[in-house]
Amino acid sequence: MANEFPILKPGSTLGILGGGQLGRMLALAAARFGLRCHVFSPEKESCAFDVAYAKTCASYEDEAALTRFADSCDVITFEFENVPAETADFLVTNKKAVLPDPAILATTQDRLAEKHFLTDFEIKTAPYAEISSDVDLPVAIVQVPAPAVMKTRRLGYDGKGQAVISQGGDPAAAWKAIGEMPAILEGFVDFDLEVSVVAARGRDGSFAAFEPTENIHRDHILHKSIVPANITPAVSKEAVAIAKKIADELKYVGVLAVEMFVVPKDGKHELLVNEIAPRVHNSGHWTIDGANVSQFEQHIRAVAGWPLARPRRIGQVEMTNLVGDEVESWKKFAALPNTAVHVYGKGEARPGRKMGHVTKVTPED
Ligand code: AMP
Repeated sequence: MANEFPILKPGSTLGILGGGQLGRMLALAAARFGLRCHVFSPEKESCAFDVAYAKTCASYEDEAALTRFADSCDVITFEFENVPAETADFLVTNKKAVLPDPAILATTQDRLAEKHFLTDFEIKTAPYAEISSDVDLPVAIVQVPAPAVMKTRRLGYDGKGQAVISQGGDPAAAWKAIGEMPAILEGFVDFDLEVSVVAARGRDGSFAAFEPTENIHRDHILHKSIVPANITPAVSKEAVAIAKKIADELKYVGVLAVEMFVVPKDGKHELLVNEIAPRVHNSGHWTIDGANVSQFEQHIRAVAGWPLARPRRIGQVEMTNLVGDEVESWKKFAALPNTAVHVYGKGEARPGRKMGHVTKVTPED
């Protein structure tokens, strides 16, 4: 179906659902190709609006606004994976070109569906059990003994909607803590490190991955991404192969990120997939300054129907998020050598809010 969509020529308009920093960086990358972006976001203070050619501030349920938006766009993409399924359906049934195919969201918006999808394709994950109501708790805790993590099936991010159950802990308390919502119980993984693969799949099925990135979290929020990751070439190859398999099975078009746990096993490492993000991803921000092509440009290339670039890293890279009032240090970072400063232009620097990032690229000899 993607092949029926028009190839975006310079001067065309790309629609972006979602108006956060990912949309902002997508719009900046699109501008380099002479593409115009129309950003649709329900929030007045969307930082992507500041750099867009056109903007619509309306709710995702506002069909009249969606129709006007869609009529002005040649292709539509999204930067926000929790776009309501009804919004995506509305655009698709009205024959709008939406990439990646929003049908994918049914899998990635629901942790249980995502786990089933991965298991069906023999991709390893942490052990998991389904919890639809409190009746399921006693069975789930036998299937997946503590330590374990209970996660809501939907709308969880940056550790929200999650509760850890320690050995001997009470599953009922965890169920209460996550708001008694449909959930999964996941075995707690004693990983050595976390990595992600950010990769693009083109409309023609071509595939191009960035090197796996090592990710360090603080308070459940990504703190640092380091490339190259501290993994062997064999594990790195395996990580990219897993991402390719996922992208191919989903017939994905655009950039996606696959988060994985690197777990010690028999003196080696094995990979367990934690999560698929059907969009550009925070752990790929390093590519703006640390690679010959950024994840944002790759996404634009893919959804526009252009050839993908072959990603190449240009040094040792460390990306650090500026969360909350850490963004006030922009001046200090701007004075450092080999350091790129990115500030998203968001309003209030609330605790936990991603306000910007800095990327240090150290040339390799
Ligand atoms: P998630 O929202 O699933 O991406 O989880 C956020 C972070 O919580 C992950 O990046 C891990 O650091 C941690 N985490 C999530 N699930 C597990 C697990 N099953 N075992 C250990 N740590 C986890």
